[in-house]
Amino acid sequence: MDTLIKKVDAENPDESVLKEAAEIIRAGGLVAFPTETVYGLGANGLDGEACKRIYEAKGRPSDNPLILHISDRKWVGRLAREIPPAGEIIMEKFWPGPVTIVFKKTDIVPDSVSGGLDTVAVRFPVNTVAMRFLALCDVPVAAPSANSSGKPSPTRASHVEFDLSGKIDMIIDGGACEFGLESTIVDVTEDIPVLLRPGAVTFEMLTEVLGEVRVDEAVFSGNAEKPKAPGMKYKHYSPLAEVILVDGKDSEEISRKINALLEKDNEEGIKSGVLTFDERAGNYQCENILRMGSENDFKEIGANLFKMLRKFDYMNVDRVYCETVPAEGEGFAIMNRLFKAAGFRTV
Ligand code: AMP
Ligand code: MG
Repeated sequence: MDTLIKKVDAENPDESVLKEAAEIIRAGGLVAFPTETVYGLGANGLDGEACKRIYEAKGRPSDNPLILHISDRKWVGRLAREIPPAGEIIMEKFWPGPVTIVFKKTDIVPDSVSGGLDTVAVRFPVNTVAMRFLALCDVPVAAPSANSSGKPSPTRASHVEFDLSGKIDMIIDGGACEFGLESTIVDVTEDIPVLLRPGAVTFEMLTEVLGEVRVDEAVFSGNAEKPKAPGMKYKHYSPLAEVILVDGKDSEEISRKINALLEKDNEEGIKSGVLTFDERAGNYQCENILRMGSENDFKEIGANLFKMLRKFDYMNVDRVYCETVPAEGEGFAIMNRLFKAAGFRTV
């Protein structure tokens, strides 16, 4: 199939383009669209057959459920069997915005959305293009990240095109995503809310309004047996290269370690690269250096991370040594994605 690609202004998107996209959704097709987190691959979330096409296009395992995107809170009452106080608080404080809430689901949610679970994940994004598009669809839009399964999530329309061109009906190009990391996911179906995936709405922001919040073990462990967000058990965010996180007591020790590893790889004919920060890029003797941003600017690092992981693919690098950030505030989401990209390998 030919994939239609249409550019729109991020602040003032052309209504006729969004109407065309909404028609495709209502007819059972697939449309990739920008959000403030990453690009989503959307289908009519009440149409089980349309949602199955998402799994086919992405090569996504069928037990990995989809998030329903809405632009009106009225939908929550129809999709969720009950709305516990923690859910009310999150909606009140952080919606529209980059946080997904997991509720007990009603019968209108198809099995291909819930992946066989009795819960449903719902999000109300804040990006202008996404909001207007969703309003025109006038149904909840099921949308996982618009990448091939296992690849870094797309933060530009060109990333979606690279992975899914020919497999989906349309891509709305609304420019770069503001946050660049997927939404925070919070499960409110138990007595104590559980953080299933860290994101731009941080653990600290959640505990401030909710009190106690548990963190699902899959967030920081590669061998959590039954992660509550099924997607957390799959290898993710990985470029073709092997990613290795390098830790140390200070930046000097880290660069010494990385330079030694680079030298060894060089002797063995392995093409390696370094993923680092602006201030530290000069520390390395290597041709393949990419920067995530300034070392203290977690917003910039988050927004650039997936783009840089994809860049290593295009550079044909075999191995990437990667610097880390403290796992606090917005650094928590960055480290979660880095750990997963690295398959939890740290030296
Ligand atoms: P993606 O949008 O590609 O980041 O994928 C959606 C993420 O949300 C995956 O990690 C899913 O496992 C998770 N998710 C979706 N629905 C549910 C649910 N009902 N319960 C727990 N996690 C969910
Ligand atoms: Mg994804």
